[in-house]
Amino acid sequence: MKIILLGSPGAGKGTIAKMLTQDNGVVQISTGDILRTAVKEGTKLGQKAKKYMEEGALVPDTLIIEIIEKRLGQPDCRKGFILDGFPRTINQAIELGKMLGKLNINLDYVINLEAPLAIIMDRLTTRRTCSNPTCQEIYNMRNNPPAAGEQCKKCGHKVVQRADETEEAIAERIKVYNEKTAPLIDFYEEKKLLRNVESLYADETFAAIKALSV
Ligand code: AMP
Repeated sequence: MKIILLGSPGAGKGTIAKMLTQDNGVVQISTGDILRTAVKEGTKLGQKAKKYMEEGALVPDTLIIEIIEKRLGQPDCRKGFILDGFPRTINQAIELGKMLGKLNINLDYVINLEAPLAIIMDRLTTRRTCSNPTCQEIYNMRNNPPAAGEQCKKCGHKVVQRADETEEAIAERIKVYNEKTAPLIDFYEEKKLLRNVESLYADETFAAIKALSV
């Protein structure tokens, strides 16, 4: 399985990517997770990315493309990967096409996760994320709460609200998505790679994606 998960913030990309990874062992490549880890660890990449992320803006393409180029070249990606949160601009998609060409890799699908705006806003404001950089499990305070004391059920670390999940940053991220990322829907439609999948209930979305790949 070699797929891209497209969709606005809160569309369910992270949740679905983790379900697919657990199911068939393919690698989840989440640029958001990689950047959050870098910020937490205070690396050079993290220092450069922090300001953009907190504002809900996109991190410059050059930084992101470098991350993906390194990651896709690693041997564990040969078996399959799920790109979660990348590409996010037409330029990133063009660069990705070049990288995959060099590596001789064909994408199976680009899956566009669709959910109404009211559901997306609700998910983002009730979402909590495990603060352990190597876990980053996702919770929802209503439907899928963490263990008592706001602890991650998987690793026991504290579960927190992301710095970019204030109402202001959420509004900015959705605006940025509409301006810069939504054009990728037509881009991949023209390449006949796009599949639209409703993303209301995680189990149903997961099953719909599995059904595509058989
Ligand atoms: P996410 O967890 O995918 O919502 O990403 C969180 C934040 O990381 C975004 O709001 C951006 O600031 C940054 N980010 C993640 N992926 C990308 C990307 N492909 N291009 C630019 N910025 C990104």
